[in-house]
Parts: sequence; structure tokens; C-alpha cells
Amino acid sequence: MISIQPYSILVGHSVTATSFQLSLPAAYCDMSAAKSIVLIGMMGAGKSSVGRCLQRLTGLARIDTDEIIAAEFGIPIAQIFATHGEEKFRDAETNVLLKLAPDRPAIITTGGGIILRPGNVDLLKKLGTVIWLTADERTLFERASRRNERPLLQKENPQTVFSDLFAKREPLYASAADLQIDTSGKSHDEVADAILAKLQELAPERPAIVVTGGGIVGNTENLDLLKRLGTVVWAHGEMNYMARAEEKRRDPQNVLPGARSIIVLALNYFQGGENASAGRIARYAWGDDYHDVIEAKLRKIDNYLRELGGEQKCYVDTGPVLERDHAATAGIGWHGKSTMLLNEKLGTWFFLAEILTTLELPPDEAARDRCGTCERCITACPTGAITAPHKLDARRCISYLTIELKSAIPLELRPLIGDRIFGCDDCLEACPWNRFAKVSRETSFTARRSTATLALRDYLTLSEAEFRNLFRNSPIKRVKRRGFLRNVCVALGNVGTFDDLPALRRAAADSEPLIAEHATWAIEQILNRVGPTA
Ligand code: SF4
Ligand code: SF4
Repeated sequence: MISIQPYSILVGHSVTATSFQLSLPAAYCDMSAAKSIVLIGMMGAGKSSVGRCLQRLTGLARIDTDEIIAAEFGIPIAQIFATHGEEKFRDAETNVLLKLAPDRPAIITTGGGIILRPGNVDLLKKLGTVIWLTADERTLFERASRRNERPLLQKENPQTVFSDLFAKREPLYASAADLQIDTSGKSHDEVADAILAKLQELAPERPAIVVTGGGIVGNTENLDLLKRLGTVVWAHGEMNYMARAEEKRRDPQNVLPGARSIIVLALNYFQGGENASAGRIARYAWGDDYHDVIEAKLRKIDNYLRELGGEQKCYVDTGPVLERDHAATAGIGWHGKSTMLLNEKLGTWFFLAEILTTLELPPDEAARDRCGTCERCITACPTGAITAPHKLDARRCISYLTIELKSAIPLELRPLIGDRIFGCDDCLEACPWNRFAKVSRETSFTARRSTATLALRDYLTLSEAEFRNLFRNSPIKRVKRRGFLRNVCVALGNVGTFDDLPALRRAAADSEPLIAEHATWAIEQILNRVGPTA
């Protein structure tokens, strides 16, 4: 048993989830579904000023439709109204929207009347998330009156004109907007923060990949985290790499000298439905190997951060980094009593990846523990591997026994494995937070058809080459034929019938002793169940 103590932590920073996601290059943004931010609202709502704040916070380009029109005409907006009339201005507005096609997400600010034409609203929605900046009529009028170049207020009774516009436009803004942000009593910076917070709140539902910044927080900054780190206990069985990497885990500087921040990423792999193949396989292994899928995505982000002057080390699962702890610090989720990380919207079905970078980025806040009094995962565990909240005896965990363990599975634990042939999801399936999980948009993780029609005993006939071929690009290839057929034998020992005995007898003569021993055990189990006449 080792106790992973609080590692030496440098005070670093991370970007906020939304600002980082939106500042990624176009290729990545397509994948992550990051969109432009389009601000609409009455004059006086603060669209231009808030747009500038958002530009500063996200690093995105700012596009102002009024500025483009004024530049095209070569005169101020008030003069366009006076010289060419409102209709001509509205035509120009529509033309600008038709031509706008930013090659990456941007902050788009608009004139107050842009929603008057229904066609414009469709164009705005295509451009990005439409955010309506609101306030009460009096506040808006008071703000709008501070500038005397508003063409529509250059009338005898501007307050009445404003009131009419307000009454006419409010319902149009409401129907055009994806989000509404009340600006009353807020500074422009506070409104921009509120917008980013709202988008961040919604982000896990939309993109397949959730990007959140993860600061390596200073140990004085987060006592809760430190307490948690100090009590995480891994009884780590054969997983010697954990001990080997402990020194590196203790200090990210050992991994990347000059590291200032960690960016943690989560990728939803939930596919819904039930296990379709004979023998249960953990959900994460139904489709393609997540390492390959995520590494390709990380390379794009790495390239982008290089352009910003950063040096990076990227890890998916395998690196010497305490990924769940960093993910919790970054606000991706909290440590469940099952020891898995939980996210309010994704449940437990997500992969983690980390990018250590020399860039200094502002940190996010850690997520709040929401397990409450629930202990369903502990009760659901078939082997009693979760010995107490947040404590896992890996040597009893079926995921460890069927994936990490290279040698024979202990005899006393074999009957508890049931028909599981690769991993175990029982503690995850039991978790109530998974009722919020949505099916991932990442198609690489959909279940393979090639194994759906196979009976458990069919796996025992696989040669080395056939095994490699069947599980090409699958996480299952990791345990190799010897480990996988060992698991199949255990499952057959638990659920097999008389019909499985011929295949098991052939496996008992396999040249691989590990398979032969487990096949012999399985035969005994079946004979004990069906009787000696079999
Ligand atoms: S994966 Fe299975 S065996 Fe391991 S802790 Fe969870 S329920 Fe228990
Ligand atoms: S099952 Fe309950 S205790 Fe376990 S991780 Fe989920 S919410 Fe927390």
C-alpha cells in the first residue's frame, strides 16, 4: 500500500474553460463545437463595451457590424441614417451578415435594430450563440442618452421614441436569443464574466470535448484538495508504474521543467444502451482505443499553444501525472466515493487528458463534492474493493484483475467476476449522477459489431493473429491474447454450460500456461455445477 502524499505544487494558472475553448484554432473549435458569441440588445445595453471586454478575456477577434457599415459608407452611422435613410442602413446590415464568415469563433457585436428583419436573426444564429443583453427600460434610456449621436433618438421627444422602440423590439430580442444576460447594476467586465460563466455552465452539454483549465494550485490555496490528496490510498497490486512514477507525480516540474499550468480535458465516451457482446466489457472499451482518439486531438491543441510560445507535455492516462486530482482542481468534477471523478453533466463516463504547459494561465475553481450521503457505488461493488469512501483496494477490483493484472487471477476472486471479460462498470452504473449522461458525439467509441455475434467460447479459438485482428485499435488489445483468454475462461467458469466444455478442454491444452490453468479451473466449475455426467 502506498499513500500518495500531497506533491510539491507550484503556483500556476490555467485559463477558464470558456475562454480557452473559444480561443482555440478553428480546426479544434469545429471539433469542440465552440461558437462565436453574438451580442444583441437595445441601444444602451453595452454591446460594444462588453464585446471589448470579451475580446480581452478570450483573445478572440471582435467584429462590430456598425463599424463595418460605417467603414463601407465612409461616414458615421448617424450620417448614413440622415443621408440614405433607415432602410438603406438595414440593407447594409443584412449584407454584412451575409458576408460574415469568420474562420474561427469571434465576438460579434451588432446594432440595436438588427433583429428587425427575421432573415437577420437566422443569419445571427448561424454565426454563433446569440446573447441578449438586457436591463430595464429606464436604465437603458439613461445609458443611451449619454451619447448624442444615436440617430433614432435625434427626435423631439426621445424618451417616447425610446419607449416605442423598447416595446417593439423586446419580444424580437427574446425570440432571437439563445441566452439572456441582465446587465443592470453590473460593470462591463462583470457582464462579460457572466456571459463566459453561463457559456461554461452550458458547455458540457454541447461539445463532445470539454476543455477546462486546470491550475496547479499552490498548496496554500486549496486545503480541501490537499486533505484529499493526503488520504487517497491506492493498494496498487501489480501496478508498479504507479510507484515508479511517484517522484514525477509529486512535482510536475520533473515532467516538464518550467511548467506553469496544467490544462485538463474531459471527453465523453457514453454510448447509452446495454453491453451487446457475450461477456461484459466496460463501456470505455466498446469502441476504439481512446488513447489514439484523444492524442490526435491533443496534437492540435499542442500546435496551437506552441504558436503562443508554450512548451507542452501531453498525457492521456499513461503519463506520470495525477490526472484525477488535477481534473478536480480544474473544476472538471469531484472525487466520488468510488474514487472515480464525477461531473454534474457527464456523470462518470469520460476520459481525462492533460496538457502541462510552460504558459502561465489563470486558474479555474475546484468542483464541489456532491456525493452527499450516497454510498451506492460502495454497495454495488461485487468484490468489496471500495473498502470505504474514497478508498479502493485495487487488488480486489475487477478492472484491475481483468486488465492490469498480468498473472493468474486469485482463486477466491474468480467467482466474483461473473461474466465480466474486460473491466467492470458496476460502481459507475450505480451512480445516480449518470442519469444526466448524454450519448457522446464521438463516434469512435460506438460498440464494435465484430464481437456482437460471438459466443464467449468463440474467443477461445482465437490465434494470436486473429486476436490482434479482432481487437485492432481497441483498448482490449492491451491485455493481449493470454490475458483476454484468461478472462474468458474465468467468465465461462462462472456462467458457462455443458456446451462450452469442448472449447475449454482445447484451451486447457493451450501452449500458454496462464490460459491452460484458467481453462482447467473453468471446466471444474462447470462440472461442479452440471454434475459429473457431463
Ligand atoms: S470497477 Fe467493479 S470491482 Fe472495481 S471498484 Fe468498481 S464495482 Fe468494484
Ligand atoms: S454512487 Fe453515490 S457515493 Fe458513489 S460516486 Fe456516485 S454519488 Fe458518489
